[in-house]
Amino acid sequence: MRATLVFPTREIVERYYVPLIYTACRTCYSELAPDDIFERAIDGRIPPAKQRELIGRVIESGHGSTIEHVVFTFAITGVSRTLSHQLVRHRAGVAFDQQSQRYVSYKKGASTMLPGTIAEADPELLARYEDQVEGALELYSELVDSGIPGEDARFVFPNATRTNLVMTANLRALIHMSGLRLCTMAQWEIRRLFQLIRHEVFAVSPFLGSFLAPKCVPLGYCDEAGNRDEHCPIRPHKDRVLEAWAEQAKRQSAQPPRADAPE
Ligand SMILES: Cc1cc2nc3c(=O)[nH]c(=O)nc-3n(C[C@H](O)[C@H](O)[C@H](O)COP(=O)(O)OP(=O)(O)OC[C@H]3O[C@@H](n4cnc5c(N)ncnc54)[C@H](O)[C@@H]3O)c2cc1C
Repeated sequence: MRATLVFPTREIVERYYVPLIYTACRTCYSELAPDDIFERAIDGRIPPAKQRELIGRVIESGHGSTIEHVVFTFAITGVSRTLSHQLVRHRAGVAFDQQSQRYVSYKKGASTMLPGTIAEADPELLARYEDQVEGALELYSELVDSGIPGEDARFVFPNATRTNLVMTANLRALIHMSGLRLCTMAQWEIRRLFQLIRHEVFAVSPFLGSFLAPKCVPLGYCDEAGNRDEHCPIRPHKDRVLEAWAEQAKRQSAQPPRADAPE
């Protein structure tokens, strides 16, 4: 599996992305025209650290439209159809184009993904898995050779079949998707993909890359029902946080009123 950031380059991100987001944020509170703010941000009259500081505060406050003005395009290669089906469930602020199983004829044979758990399973089970997948690919070729159109022959392909996509997401969508897909509750393959995506964004901008994190990191707590036992230790579960909050409120209400408290 590969995920390569094809646009923007580091130079474009450094020169335009932070100033652009800053302009969107600052326009809300300024009498200056947006193009004036943008010029000041680009030529350094507004120091980059000041720009980052405002952007950080705005993102933390959830004012997400400000980060919809910048996009990231990835070439995603060699992921399974299992992964792509999950990926394309994201709808807001993201565009996909995917290799077609109708128009690609797979003359060299479709390639497939082998999950680690199956690779390390009982050798007999592994052999049966490989036979099943290879059998499906062989049948595909036989169907196509006998004149069945690719769009029908493909019905025999397993979920393990690899595919390629181009994905463009604005920064708000990318943060949202990363929040869900970097979470330890996400499926291993899509989690791996978003680790690669995070790495790519980090390489062009450690500042913007730092916002790609499991959703519990900005929230401060975990809201996954499946983690009530807190087997994932990144953040405490929401239930625990609410219990601690209720406990503290009870302790405070049990304390005698302060002498200087108003009547
Ligand atoms: C761990 C995990 C397990 C999952 N398991 C399953 C499963 O078993 N079965 C299954 O079917 N799916 C499953 N999903 C997929 C999940 O239900 C979502 O479809 C997917 O994560 C896309 O996220 P999103 O809905 O936030 O969409 P996005 O398109 O990423 O939307 C971003 C945000 O925009 C808003 N938005 C988008 N569209 C609308 C709209 N039409 N109306 C109102 N607001 C909107 C919402 O606030 C949304 O959160 C799973 C996802 C995860 C992360």
